Amino acid sequence: MTAIDLGVPSLGPAEPAPVSGPLIDTFGRVATDLRVSLTDRCNLRCTYCMPAEGLDWLPGEQLLRPDELIRLLRTAVTRLGITSVRFTGGEPLVAKNLEDIVGATAALTPRPEITLTTNGIGLDKRAARLKHAGLDRINVSLDTVDAGRFAHITRRDRLSDVLAGLEAAKAAGLRPVKVNAVLDPVTGLDDAVQLLRFCLDHGYQLRIIEQMPLDAGHEWQRGRALNADDVLDALQRHFDLRPHPAPRGSAPAELWEVDGGRGTVGIRSATACSPARRPICAGSCGPAPTMRRSKPHGAPRCGRRRPGTASTTRTSCSRTAR
Ligand code: SF4
Repeated sequence: MTAIDLGVPSLGPAEPAPVSGPLIDTFGRVATDLRVSLTDRCNLRCTYCMPAEGLDWLPGEQLLRPDELIRLLRTAVTRLGITSVRFTGGEPLVAKNLEDIVGATAALTPRPEITLTTNGIGLDKRAARLKHAGLDRINVSLDTVDAGRFAHITRRDRLSDVLAGLEAAKAAGLRPVKVNAVLDPVTGLDDAVQLLRFCLDHGYQLRIIEQMPLDAGHEWQRGRALNADDVLDALQRHFDLRPHPAPRGSAPAELWEVDGGRGTVGIRSATACSPARRPICAGSCGPAPTMRRSKPHGAPRCGRRRPGTASTTRTSCSRTAR
């Protein structure tokens, strides 16, 4: 046997750590959108998101103070190339000082675009203040416009509050007002048709998001969840849908023009991205870094993503979309 000297492994000289952006992942994609989860608390209990009794919420002292949060946002905007900030939760309207946080974000230079994803509860009283503070756009989560189904899905009888929040957002001049829907496996196709009618009538933009396997109740089954093809088939039986001419870019939802330009609907696939089906992202999606407000030693709760990791579990409200 001949012995071969393989030498001593060497990593070579270490590259100095970068001190500024842009944020580029290992695929060379540049991240410019930042999601900021302000709280893990929520006033709904959507069945696909959390158990009826709620969660073991993070104690307040484990959350970043507003000044600490703004300091991190300043770094992201001024040094890391972030141009768009989306506030999420849990439910971000539950977070104290939301208007102050939005205002301080709007004062950064260069000013980022500021958006909010909310379940809409309490928005009727705060939409104007948020707009005044600097909020640009809003996404309101709404899975059905049927009051009974809404109460069943969210375990709360609050549909009228969400509808009032949507009206207030429109009246405050937030544009566009988007509605994010995750469809129930049983009633979802009917809900999708009703939701699209409702959104067309009110001038909202509907985004339908395939249910993700978050599995709060350990019940998710791929064969049971509605997929983007089911939704498209159902909508096409009631509306004239044509691919929207705008380039899709990095948008995660496939966009359709409805009834000759009366409105649009986006359909976002959550669990499959393959050439055999419509891809999620047309191969051009960008990474979406997420910042959670908990301090580094805060224990992650439920299925939420640990800070800085990527997974199919959520870090925020399951119904988020751009
Ligand atoms: S999906 Fe969003 S609105 Fe529903 S319980 Fe979860 S955080 Fe709240």
